Amino acid sequence: MQKATLPVKNKFGFFEVRLESIGGLGANVAGKILAEAGVMGMGYNGSNFASYGSEKKGTPVSSYVRFCDSDKAVRINSPVTDPHVLGVFHENLVSRLPITAGVGPNATVVINTDKDPHNAREYLRLSGGRVITVDAIKIAYEEKVRMNAIMIGAITRAMDFMDKEAVKEAIRQTLGKKYENQLKANLRGFEAGYEQVSIDSFDEDGRFPFIPFKEAKGEWGYANAPIGGIVVEAGSMILKNNQSSRQGKIPLFHPGKCIHCGLCETTCPDYCFSFEPGMDEKTNKTQMYNKGLDYQYCKGCLRCVDVCPVEALTEELEAEHDIEKLTVKL
Ligand code: SF4
Ligand code: SF4
Repeated sequence: MQKATLPVKNKFGFFEVRLESIGGLGANVAGKILAEAGVMGMGYNGSNFASYGSEKKGTPVSSYVRFCDSDKAVRINSPVTDPHVLGVFHENLVSRLPITAGVGPNATVVINTDKDPHNAREYLRLSGGRVITVDAIKIAYEEKVRMNAIMIGAITRAMDFMDKEAVKEAIRQTLGKKYENQLKANLRGFEAGYEQVSIDSFDEDGRFPFIPFKEAKGEWGYANAPIGGIVVEAGSMILKNNQSSRQGKIPLFHPGKCIHCGLCETTCPDYCFSFEPGMDEKTNKTQMYNKGLDYQYCKGCLRCVDVCPVEALTEELEAEHDIEKLTVKL
């Protein structure tokens, strides 16, 4: 029995949600939980699926949720192009992909950021609509919980018709079975995400144009891909910008401590470090000196921090540093 009427539907009769994220942040599971809450807990008909490339941390992931009335069959299985709710799990994605495409002035965007809704709207260049911000990374550190529980809480807040208890039950059923010892923390994270949001709405004031959805096409094909598909330059991804793969932490370089052993560069999967030749005054010989790293290519795996023998690289919170100032361009 359907518990509530959907507040708004598209011309096909669906309320639609799109979650934009990177592998490892849990958007896929978040989509499953929201869909299960709506279908099993609230009696809607619905569907959920995710699309991603290679199944690894750091690559873009989209997850889609559709709800319709219980007397309607779900016969559409394509990606959500014009969502009523867009969930952005990682704000840096906006510099890399057109994640706000299809998001109109009647939609709600829920974004993981430390910005307020006004600055988030400017950052996202939204034509208008409702913006809900939640500092999910900060809450995750404070509550010692995975970020997706917090995002599920904030997205539930955006879907006014969702029954909070049904979502919590879906969390119990999904996360509780797999990670029983973390269930309490996940429910705490959900509540924190639900409560600790900032909400504002913006009229279509002409500051930014509406961006229609367009199917993404890769820049490389059989005719122009490098032989063997090997990327030989810094940054192992085709888009050559790995910033959105970071999950809130960066390696911080302390030049005064560095002994220029090169272990970080040989370990780094993306060749982020910049080494330049210089004269060693003690030996009067030329040697390579580490000048720092280019954060454009750094995906935040922190392997360099692990291998550095003298703590010249430390693990730090990205939000506490000015990445542009720290970057040494390759
Ligand atoms: S591993 Fe540490 S000491 Fe060695 S070059 Fe890198 S930063 Fe410097
Ligand atoms: S964290 Fe270190 S090893 Fe990992 S990509 Fe960044 S610079 Fe390279």
